Amino acid sequence: MLSFRAIFRFLVPAGVLFAATCYLVFKTGIPPALRPFLTIYPWLVAVVGLLLGWRFNRSRLIYVVLLLAVGEWAVHLQPDASIQAFVALPAALLLPLNLTFIAFWKERGLLNWLTLVRLVLLGGQCAGVWWLFQWNESLVTRWLQWPFIPWTLPDYIPLGQSALAVSLLCGLLLFARYVFVQKSMEAGFFWSLPAVVLAFSLPEQMTFWFSTAILIMLFAVIETSFSMAFNDELTGLPARRAMNEHLLKMGRKYVVAMVDVDHFKKVNDTYGHDVGDQVLRMIAACLRTVPGGGKAFRFGGEEFAVIFSGETAADVKPYLEILRERIAQSGFAVRSRKRPRKKPEQVGRSRTAGRTLQVTVSIGVAERDEENSETAQVIKAADQALYRAKKGGRNRVC
Ligand code: GH3
Ligand code: MG
Ligand code: MG
Repeated sequence: MLSFRAIFRFLVPAGVLFAATCYLVFKTGIPPALRPFLTIYPWLVAVVGLLLGWRFNRSRLIYVVLLLAVGEWAVHLQPDASIQAFVALPAALLLPLNLTFIAFWKERGLLNWLTLVRLVLLGGQCAGVWWLFQWNESLVTRWLQWPFIPWTLPDYIPLGQSALAVSLLCGLLLFARYVFVQKSMEAGFFWSLPAVVLAFSLPEQMTFWFSTAILIMLFAVIETSFSMAFNDELTGLPARRAMNEHLLKMGRKYVVAMVDVDHFKKVNDTYGHDVGDQVLRMIAACLRTVPGGGKAFRFGGEEFAVIFSGETAADVKPYLEILRERIAQSGFAVRSRKRPRKKPEQVGRSRTAGRTLQVTVSIGVAERDEENSETAQVIKAADQALYRAKKGGRNRVC
């Protein structure tokens, strides 16, 4: 199921951006003061999209800009009205399909041989549409407008049935992808789809809705970069940068607890890095539910920090003891991930598979006081306390 955070990420900013644009256009109309801006709006978002995609190495954003630019050129910028009317029919199918296709690409950066293949595919589609137009314009038009369900769509849905069905299918796929991946980029892809569908439903506003689709993707890339800087991908905990910002909000009374996994190098050496990562994730899950209202961060490597606001070290020690005890008590089941890849004669439980792994943590605590009034000093004091906990035999709070 989707957590509250995942639903929030789905809706903000991409969903809100789409809804706000719809509200502006359909309910209040574009304010006259903004209308001159509409001529530069598409150029602006396209150029910013390309620049951002290049600088942040987000090739999917670049392909979306390219795809919509080609769509705009093929449907809107053709000098011949009959070509325009024809091209809009296959384009209303191909653009949502391509958008969905791009959403499922793995991000591999821009400069590799796949780029060429993808560009050829895009060009091939343009050539295919042109060939269909030459071959038998009226027959293809009839096919594409074929009402395969005997039901007349209401007037406010000017799309043909086939385009509508394809768009709905793409919407379902993009939503399913978001549910599985739960990343801002995927939310961006989902919400840019209705913008593309609107572009074909309201041909006179096509450029505007294409631009809106790019804008949604642009925000998704910015959101992703923000999230990468402030959240730790492995554990899902907020990262050190987020901790520094969190500390700025602290008053005169707070506690920093540094949590370090004991003999973690040995876990890595014995069970492999994958199992090490798994252990870190499980420790993060314990930290997330630390009693006493502490907020957990991944400080770096196998070190975590928990910050309690408005508390003293003496107040939080019982909570940290509970946390330490909880981690020490929970055995981590080690699963071998290599099994399916092995040759038949080697199949069997590997040495480490199925074993339970006991992990402990040492915790150093320090509070803000007259002596340590700066956050850096409090962290340093907590680090020194952690060192004492290690010296004292590990699996303890100091
Ligand atoms: P101590 O009890 O004194 O803390 O010993 P330790 O082995 O835990 O400490 P040490 O600092 O020597 O080793 C920390 C290890 O953590 C080294 C590094 O390879 C590993 N490590 C750091 N980050 C990660 C990570 O993200 N994943 C995995 N699997 N290992 C990590
Ligand atoms: Mg360490
Ligand atoms: Mg350690």
